[in-house]
Amino acid sequence: MLGILRSIVQEVNGARDLQESLDIIVSRVQAAMNTEVCSVYLLDPASNRYILMATEGLHKKAVGKVSLAHSEGLVGLVGSREEPINLEDAPSHPRYRYFPETGEERFRSFLGVPIIHHRRVLGVLVVQQREASRNFDEGEEAFLVTVSAQLAGVIAHSEATGAISGLSLTGEEARDVSFNGVPGAPGVAIGRGVVVYPPADLDAVPEKATDNPEGELAAFQEAVKAVQEDIQKVSERLSDKLRPEEQALFDVYLRMLGDNALPGEVVNRIRNDGLWAQGALKQVVNQYVRHFEMMDDHYLRERAVDIRDLGRRILSHLQEGDTRQVDYPEGTVLVSEELTPAMLGEVPRGRLVGLVSVRGSSNSHVAILARAMGVPTVMGLVDIPVNQLDGKELIVDGFEGQIFASPSAELRHFYEEICEEEDELFRGLEALRDKPCITTDGHRVSLLVNTGLMTDVVRSLSHGAEGIGLYRTEVPFMIKERFPSEHEQRQYYREQLEAFAPNPVTMRTLDIGGDKALSYFPINEENPFLGWRGIRISLDHPEIFLVQVRAMLKASEGFNNLQIMLPMISNVSEVEESLHLIYRVYHEVREEGYQIHMPRVGVMIEVPAAVYQVRELAERVDFLSVGSNDLTQYLLAVDRNNPRVAQLYHSYHPAVLQALVRIAQDAHSVGKPVTICGELAGDPGGALLLMAMGYDALSMNAASLPKVKSVIRSISREWAAQLLEDVLLLDSPHVIKSCVDLALRGAGFARYLRPSRSSVPVPTYESAR
Ligand code: PEP
Ligand code: MG
Repeated sequence: MLGILRSIVQEVNGARDLQESLDIIVSRVQAAMNTEVCSVYLLDPASNRYILMATEGLHKKAVGKVSLAHSEGLVGLVGSREEPINLEDAPSHPRYRYFPETGEERFRSFLGVPIIHHRRVLGVLVVQQREASRNFDEGEEAFLVTVSAQLAGVIAHSEATGAISGLSLTGEEARDVSFNGVPGAPGVAIGRGVVVYPPADLDAVPEKATDNPEGELAAFQEAVKAVQEDIQKVSERLSDKLRPEEQALFDVYLRMLGDNALPGEVVNRIRNDGLWAQGALKQVVNQYVRHFEMMDDHYLRERAVDIRDLGRRILSHLQEGDTRQVDYPEGTVLVSEELTPAMLGEVPRGRLVGLVSVRGSSNSHVAILARAMGVPTVMGLVDIPVNQLDGKELIVDGFEGQIFASPSAELRHFYEEICEEEDELFRGLEALRDKPCITTDGHRVSLLVNTGLMTDVVRSLSHGAEGIGLYRTEVPFMIKERFPSEHEQRQYYREQLEAFAPNPVTMRTLDIGGDKALSYFPINEENPFLGWRGIRISLDHPEIFLVQVRAMLKASEGFNNLQIMLPMISNVSEVEESLHLIYRVYHEVREEGYQIHMPRVGVMIEVPAAVYQVRELAERVDFLSVGSNDLTQYLLAVDRNNPRVAQLYHSYHPAVLQALVRIAQDAHSVGKPVTICGELAGDPGGALLLMAMGYDALSMNAASLPKVKSVIRSISREWAAQLLEDVLLLDSPHVIKSCVDLALRGAGFARYLRPSRSSVPVPTYESAR
């Protein structure tokens, strides 16, 4: 049976469209089960009816004509019960419904199984048999369930393809289907999709020998030179948007094109193996890519993307005439299977409004650059039929990590209002820049920013931040090709410290591992989020940690506004060991003659174990800071970067809120201040709850800061405390979110609510995953 199943799935995967897929399914299943009838009914979301889409055994003319209401007949019963129904004598069942068009009266036994994709019933697969004596046995039932489970993904994919063109599975109009990925950079963009393909197809290159190696070498060198020039141009085009250290990404590209890197190996193959340049290039690129991909490491997989991109660019120059010019309209939303920083730079200045990448996560290079440039971005849109997005009107919701294609006028209007409100809000809030963040009853909260690149600092200052609550030091590490030297680190750190002096700048020590890896420090683990991460790596590599702390301390000379924060702490000994090393460096640096103060040191609370040891941890340090992104991930056991489980990732989950309350209480009970630097702090509703819990400072993306400040300045702490008390009695994250939204609406902040699936005023359903 497994063999049959595999071959059906293979055949269906090769089908041109949904109708062909369904026709293959019914004919192959009918044959495999040796039954008289096999039919597929799909649920049309527009009419909410099951429509007969394909059949083998019933009258073909009934296809597309016969339909049943959502809970009508045995098909409706299978769909609503969401489980198989196996009947020996279907016509005697009270729910049996007779359609003369199908010729169905001749068939007695009935087995129907629902086709379910990610909890949504897409349709029902039915087999029928004439004689009542033929009872479908358990094995047959199990086979049909397996077929249905395997095919649900294919059907959902076809549905997504149709939905992009505004059509449902059954050909009816279907708009405003959301495709869900993960947020890459916040903001909303409305524009036109421009799908950028890799410029040339390496896989299609044949491997040929050459009798003119010198000619091939010359052509290859020329192509490499041309690509170097292209990258230079792209880098220059972005130079006014990015600071020099961010431009370093392009240097990485250029270095890969250095003689000792990829081109050197291609040259060897042309010379030594007598291959033609294109074949040699293909071999070397594939070897590099395989090497990186086998490492099974997030960051390195992304380097494979860079290599493939470079390979295609060289190939495109080798294959003269393949200089396809892409037309980038005003309001370009750049879409690709694998967006690369170079692709981003090819869009003429001022025309890029949004980015959509099928691969990658919020930590990809492109996402880091997009955040620095303020371009709304959605990453990780797996399974979306990307080619279909070309030329389509797209809405990119970088807050929620979802996109909409060919939106209805209603949805477009909804998002246009959000864009206008964002602009208006920003302009209106500029006036608040220098005002304190204080409630109407006089409670003050510090608003800080999270930074990574220097561009973030520039934006933060213009938004009125009172300091840096989280400087993610791994970001400058990620855009380099080797560990930055102490001197280089000192320069990065000094820029951040100087920009905010005398206000505090909280530098988190290197937080790599999990999904944040360095190309030059590969970590290959089965379960990276539970593995070698954050402080665990720093303590195992004191040579890296000591250099980093030394660079921080030296950089702080003259400013003395440095705070050091330790990530992923799960026990007190990690804190003690870290403190020991920090003290050691402090004394050494002083002995070297630097006039520095001992920085305040803090611990991040981001794993459940730390929640239960807040007092013990707080007693050893100067402050605590909650990493609610990781804390939510670890408390709820939901990978924060996996769009498949994104619905389960909810920082308003009662367990998360209870933990946050406990952390604030326990920290204050031993007299230590507590900050929060996860995304929740930048959510206006979340910020209110956190303020009510007693958090002393909230650290967030620069873009969120003005909104949070305006909300806090408009309400009293007492009001927020009452809201907190109310929501702590609730047991569902969704109900809590609604309750907080309602309170914000009531307080006149409806415009601050981010669009979410629950507040978008049109029906949406899940993408093809
Ligand atoms: C967090 O986990 O909430 C946090 C702020 O750290 P990061 O997002 O960098 O893991
Ligand atoms: Mg974290």
